[in-house]
Amino acid sequence: MWSGRTINEDVISRWSPPQVVGFTDNDSWRLNRRLLLRGCQGYHPERRHAFINIEMARIIIIGGGIAGLSAAYDACQDGKHQVTLIESSDRLGGKIITRYENDLVVEGGPDSVFTTKPWAVDLMVELGLESELEEPIGAGFSVLVGGKLHVVPRALASLMPSASTALESIGFLGATARKRILSEKAVEKGSGEDETIASFFRRRFGNRFSKTLAEPLLAGIHAGSADKLSMKALYPSYIGLEQKHGSLSAVSSAAPAIGAPSTSHRKPGFITLDGGLQRLVDVLVERLKSVDIRLNTLVEQIERNEDGSFRVHANEVLECDALIFAIPGYAAAPILSGIAPGAFEPLMGIRHGSTAVASFCYASSSFKNELHGNGFLVPADEPSSITGCTFSSLKWKHRAPDGSVLLRAFMGQDGGLNVDDYSDDQLLKMAVADFGKHLKVKAEPYYTRVDRWTKAMPQYEVGHTDRMDVIENAVGEMPILFAGCSYRGTGIPDCIRQGREAARSLNKRFA
Ligand SMILES: Cc1cc2nc3c(=O)[nH]c(=O)nc-3n(C[C@H](O)[C@H](O)[C@H](O)COP(=O)(O)OP(=O)(O)OC[C@H]3O[C@@H](n4cnc5c(N)ncnc54)[C@H](O)[C@@H]3O)c2cc1C
Repeated sequence: MWSGRTINEDVISRWSPPQVVGFTDNDSWRLNRRLLLRGCQGYHPERRHAFINIEMARIIIIGGGIAGLSAAYDACQDGKHQVTLIESSDRLGGKIITRYENDLVVEGGPDSVFTTKPWAVDLMVELGLESELEEPIGAGFSVLVGGKLHVVPRALASLMPSASTALESIGFLGATARKRILSEKAVEKGSGEDETIASFFRRRFGNRFSKTLAEPLLAGIHAGSADKLSMKALYPSYIGLEQKHGSLSAVSSAAPAIGAPSTSHRKPGFITLDGGLQRLVDVLVERLKSVDIRLNTLVEQIERNEDGSFRVHANEVLECDALIFAIPGYAAAPILSGIAPGAFEPLMGIRHGSTAVASFCYASSSFKNELHGNGFLVPADEPSSITGCTFSSLKWKHRAPDGSVLLRAFMGQDGGLNVDDYSDDQLLKMAVADFGKHLKVKAEPYYTRVDRWTKAMPQYEVGHTDRMDVIENAVGEMPILFAGCSYRGTGIPDCIRQGREAARSLNKRFA
């Protein structure tokens, strides 16, 4: 299957040591290449890829989540490379999975993509899905404070409150907290060094604002602890704005920070696809006809050949010239340990937390109170087994039949509930009990399901960007790249960007 691979002889003869030029039969050619590459490594290690012009490089992508699929899409586009994608499970898409059951459209993992990070929407449009882009029909969200849900004013969703008018409707924070928020402009600017989400927002806006709004919003989506997660790795634009303007309130009317919810009334901060995000995976996979996709295949180990190519142990041994790791850091670490030992510790050091999505469908009549907006968040200091809830059928069109309400509860957080310790039944019971308290729903749901995401949520702790530098340096000049949620951006847009950038970088390297 690896036939058709050629090395550009012009380039070789220009650079090759004279003693290996001139072999003609096949064996001699192979020897020629081996000697040549060994010689090149010895004499010019840093320029090895600049002068080996492999016209048809063999690229292996490990992992068939959205990062791996996006990498495969770009790697195969010009038909110049032989691309293989290896996935250990029996399906593609990784954490993206939409289920169609009981007349419901149920997202098991993610349900939308930020528009402030353009890479997901760009890919959707490129794939011809523009007409299927779907904006949320609901707007806004609530936060649980003192056991009660309070609507969060739109102006605060960007976490850059600008004026006293924006604060009028947040009586639930208390007068002292509001005063403190309004004094943000007078707070001295920080050093610009990495710090935690909690430290950044408590410093700028005070504890109450941080704990009630910033931390559940920014740390909650990572099922993480605001006391550990890195601002520089996750929300660098807030640091940038602070450094540039000295205050966030001062710039709140400017463009929204990357990764922050949009404050614009015209453009939604996030979108999905009609029928769910699975559509993105399905259409992307259709474009990978020339890619050799191997499901149910676990990559276990990689070795390096003398000529710089690789042997990939995955059911059988596959040879390749370049690799893209689109799997979690802890899965990549042991595979790479033989050829990049310096990457092992830092890769293993990227912690991943477990989370679960519990989905429920109720008859609309079960709710005594009207449900507001797209859902609610639960700050870590509120007694609750869920960290947040999306009102899926109020947020998106056609998710549940008329007369029904589809809810998704998020469970599990670093430093909080460890979902691995509980059965599905226990999780469902705990969430139903919370709905009883927070939403005053008394009836039983007629549909339930639990999607478990074990060691799925990367925790970018303070220092994560430095850690990534160490990992990439440990790999050095080898044509091995990382893409995906463990590395340089956690959400779907960033995974797509990393996957496509990795493939494009190899395309250039093997031009
Ligand atoms: C509950 C939940 C809700 C989320 N909500 C959102 C959201 O609304 N919006 C958003 O943008 N993001 C969201 N995210 C994050 C987003 O889903 C992920 O960041 C993204 O899908 C990760 O893609 P990936 O390709 O990096 O990894 P994955 O999807 O994890 O794919 C990695 C693949 O590699 C395979 N694999 C692992 N080891 C090996 C091996 N040794 N050999 C071969 N294959 C291997 C795995 O089976 C898997 O299929 C959410 C995540 C979760 C868990």
